[in-house]
Amino acid sequence: MRRPRDSKSFREFDIVRKFKLSEKNVEKIDLKGDLRVALIFPNSYNVLSSSLGFNIVWKLFNKIENVRCERFFYHDDFVKFYSIDSLTPLDEFPIWAFAVNFENDLLNIISILKKKSVPIRNIDRRPFDPLVVFGGALTYTKLPVFDIIADVILHGDFEPMVENLDSVLEYISREKLVEKMAELHFASVPVLRKKESEISKISDLNLTIPASPIIFSHGEFKNRLLIEIERGCVWNCNFCMMGALRKPARFLNIETLKRLIMHTETCSVGLIASNVTDYPWLEEMLSWLEKNSIKVSVSSLRLDRLSKRFVSFLKRSQHAFTIAPESASEKIRKILGKNFTDQQIESALVVASEAGFREVKMYFMYGFDEEEESDLKKIGWFVRKAKRMGYRVKISANPFIPKRGTFMQNRKMQDLRVLKEKEKIIKNTVQHDASVVFENIDLSFIQYTINSAEGDMLHELIQNFENGEKLKFIVQKLAFK
Ligand code: SF4
Repeated sequence: MRRPRDSKSFREFDIVRKFKLSEKNVEKIDLKGDLRVALIFPNSYNVLSSSLGFNIVWKLFNKIENVRCERFFYHDDFVKFYSIDSLTPLDEFPIWAFAVNFENDLLNIISILKKKSVPIRNIDRRPFDPLVVFGGALTYTKLPVFDIIADVILHGDFEPMVENLDSVLEYISREKLVEKMAELHFASVPVLRKKESEISKISDLNLTIPASPIIFSHGEFKNRLLIEIERGCVWNCNFCMMGALRKPARFLNIETLKRLIMHTETCSVGLIASNVTDYPWLEEMLSWLEKNSIKVSVSSLRLDRLSKRFVSFLKRSQHAFTIAPESASEKIRKILGKNFTDQQIESALVVASEAGFREVKMYFMYGFDEEEESDLKKIGWFVRKAKRMGYRVKISANPFIPKRGTFMQNRKMQDLRVLKEKEKIIKNTVQHDASVVFENIDLSFIQYTINSAEGDMLHELIQNFENGEKLKFIVQKLAFK
């Protein structure tokens, strides 16, 4: 590890070094191969800390004989970008593998490429440029924008890819490496017009250990061992990419889960699942965790599947109760395929209140063509109900963004002026009874455009990114054409 001499680089180096020192390894990762792969999380270190998938991919990449894989994250002020694992600058890595989980991560990917003078478009890259590989949650569908930027896209679950990658990843020229990766059935290579023939899927979560090799001191799940107990989802909500693209739901066996927790001797875990309440061994798991005094946080749960016992158990480790009714209106929930009744939402609030929760966070979407003012005003109605039960209420309100691959993919995002008016209605109905955080409408529009753009619109979007246009300007240009 070389300490940088100039003060700007040292500041950057020092930020990364301090994050590294705050990590606790629970599994030894050997960094041994000759071929350096930069695994880049195109978002902040805090978000990286909560991303179990990213940390599992890091662990698995390092099982490949030739590979030495190191982690990176995004920061607006970074220029050099040092790896977390050995504080080596990004320039020294010939392969840059980005985990793309959210559309707007692309903005940070483009920022890294520009800062490093790597062309944004794959067709413009030269033999000395790094190989830009995309993986992550957004590769379960086909986003045309990826075909313009990525040299190679690895589609789907990473675990089954490892064996195949082992046979192609070696220290050869960039051109040869692209050709070899094009042979992989789960890889698409846009410059060679090669498409993937299938999306990689792990058949059994018990085959590898879906746990983070690190316990982080930052992020939503700080000081907890992250364990994935479900991948995919049993439900079919019409707006959701997880429900549509990541079938079937696969679960970690209860015995594997127990062994894993005992082995790491941890007393605090974060359980990652689409809905922890769908876990087939839920009751047995609760009894075992209780008996062993293990504290638990969960990533998400369905409000129609809550038992008093489960909510009381959560209260011992979690301070706020979080639910996602998605819409306050039963009519809109039906359109979304989230068929909760008002009564079920109320019951969930009652159960959590009786368990001792005093803070509730509720997630809502708005911006549907069928939506009327009364549907939006119903949010205020739920807020006041919760308040009367003694809750401090927090609301998160996001404009509806139709996503590729879902049952609602043919819809359009509503006009931004209409969405702004709807924001006002929500603010007025909630008044001072809850704190409301609105997702930024311009950023939502960019997210929608990255997900949906094709043809001329797509090229115009990329052109704007290349020109370094401000987001506000891009939104004005594309949204109000
Ligand atoms: S919204 Fe939740 S419950 Fe519905 S399909 Fe998606 S992950 Fe599953």
